[in-house]
Amino acid sequence: MSNCIFCKIVEKEIPSDVVYEDEKVIAFNDLEPQAPTHILIIPKKHISSINTVKKEDLEVIAHIFGIIPKLAEEKGIKESGYRVVNNCGNDGGQTVGHIHFHILGGRSLQWPPG
Ligand code: C5P
Repeated sequence: MSNCIFCKIVEKEIPSDVVYEDEKVIAFNDLEPQAPTHILIIPKKHISSINTVKKEDLEVIAHIFGIIPKLAEEKGIKESGYRVVNNCGNDGGQTVGHIHFHILGGRSLQWPPG
């Protein structure tokens, strides 16, 4: 998608602080971190939200969930705990229309979220 900011990050048209990349996904530090560790992991394919995940996309979503604990381990938050967040739609707080999973950790997180 030409006007998608995360597609531009995938294409390296805009810079990001990449912490992991392979042929299917990229993970980078969030520009406005809400916790000491705040990583976003996204599929390289443009999928707008959970609502538009197709059957053929489930492989990359599963792949993302395989990488998350590895990143958590690398960042030293696997044992202490962390949170994976997906915001979907306006009321869900989604501001970028390219599916992404937040990995938040490094502090004690509150519940419920706001
Ligand atoms: O879930 P939501 O759509 O609100 O999350 C978008 C996230 O993308 C925000 O946490 C924002 O800080 C991050 N972002 C970023 N780099 C950009 C644009 C947005 O890390 N260039």
